[in-house]
Amino acid sequence: SRPVLPSVEPGYLQNLIPGDAPEQPEKWQDILVDIERVIMPGVTHWHSPHFHAYYPTANSYPGIVGEMLSAGIGCIGFSWITSPACTELEVAMMDWLGKLIQLPREFLNCSDGPGGGVIQGSASEATLVGLLAAKERSVRRIQKLHPDWDEGTIKAKLVAYSSDLYAVQKHMTGVPYCPQGSIISRFPLADVLHNIVTFTSSCFADQSNSSVEKAGLLGSMPMRLLPTDEKCRLRGATLEQAIKSDRERGLIPCYVVATLGTTGTCAFDCLEELGPICNKEELWLHVDAAYAGSAFICPEFRHLMAGVNYADSYNFNPHKWMLVNFDCSAMWVKDSQYLIEAFSVDRIYLKHQHQGRTPDYRHWQIPLGRRFRSIKLWMVLRLYGAEGLQQHIRRQVGLAREFEALLRGDSRFEIVTDISMGLVCFRLKGPNQLTKRLHDRLMARKNIYVIAATFQDKYIIRFVVCSRVTESRDIAFA
Ligand code: PLP
Repeated sequence: SRPVLPSVEPGYLQNLIPGDAPEQPEKWQDILVDIERVIMPGVTHWHSPHFHAYYPTANSYPGIVGEMLSAGIGCIGFSWITSPACTELEVAMMDWLGKLIQLPREFLNCSDGPGGGVIQGSASEATLVGLLAAKERSVRRIQKLHPDWDEGTIKAKLVAYSSDLYAVQKHMTGVPYCPQGSIISRFPLADVLHNIVTFTSSCFADQSNSSVEKAGLLGSMPMRLLPTDEKCRLRGATLEQAIKSDRERGLIPCYVVATLGTTGTCAFDCLEELGPICNKEELWLHVDAAYAGSAFICPEFRHLMAGVNYADSYNFNPHKWMLVNFDCSAMWVKDSQYLIEAFSVDRIYLKHQHQGRTPDYRHWQIPLGRRFRSIKLWMVLRLYGAEGLQQHIRRQVGLAREFEALLRGDSRFEIVTDISMGLVCFRLKGPNQLTKRLHDRLMARKNIYVIAATFQDKYIIRFVVCSRVTESRDIAFA
């Protein structure tokens, strides 16, 4: 019953609350009244059935109760002893989840080897954690080959790869394309910003998520954004060529992020082509399946993860499409030793007598502290069961198909990419300006929330089935 998008201006809230914290304690009742007066007018309703932007963020009663229990227990489980249940439930849940999507056994905690799973706060963190582990592995490998090279020299030569900003690149007419260049080095920054601002403002224009480029920035490793094919997929030959030319320039290819379900168009990189190259060339392959990964609990979608056996790390977000409230990003690695070696900083106060028998998850992540996130995963898996979760995914994919059918039945519209999962990318036939105007009007009316994107040289609208409570009538309304 509330508009999906709020109608407030920046700074609206400052006028509704005092400038200082209260001296005296206030009453619950007064504060809850203020939730309606101060907060609700400024909420974008991600769980409205009319929210069709970005990708879903999960929400369910089991997820909420799990959050409450986690907050109530309020432990900080950075080592086994700081809350054994926190670590042990996470170990068990990552195995439950890994088995549900039929991840190769080497990734599981219950395997005999050094593989295992951990819950990160976000896919962005998982990509950065993968990069840091890749860096550790490359440094150790190269030091064996060149014992006289110091760590700093090796790190300065490392380079990473992911898929490109295809649409922006297309608009840079007259600017020579250089396959080795990252977006920053490919074009003068001012040109890039000008194009983004003038044409693609508030659009998704990339294949791999922005967090992948950010991981390169944070991890001090140049991230080459490589061109994709016409279906927005990163192909093996492109990667092979980039590796070859970087090696010729004396660089050390180190890390590849392949995406299963890109943010712009939900495209799937060709893992079966990229994987063998990464393994042969000794590059760490990280798979980012943030959104689409939840669908792999359904056997009919699992062919889309073929090639996962080549990966060194794999990540998806149950907090996107699997009904576990934010934050719950599932990450598995084949060899946790690289994480532990990259992240281990010990102090006497962190030691305990059972070290080495179960994971001390502080070595698998960036922060020291960590929440009891697995409890909400446990709740959701038990209260829905695999069948309930599969039903949720299938229902949302079905609703996207309903939207597709409505578009196909209307000659004014065209669908521009393959329909993938719960995403439909469409536009009005004719000049880009028409679709842009349609999008501007939709944003002004606030009846539904969709975002724009670019695909090749086309201005498009991304329609995603997001809310758990979206029904056919909401699709018809949209
Ligand atoms: N990777 C992909 C493919 C995404 O679509 C997104 C967000 O939509 C992310 C990564 C970032 O996820 P997070 O917010 O968990 O870092």
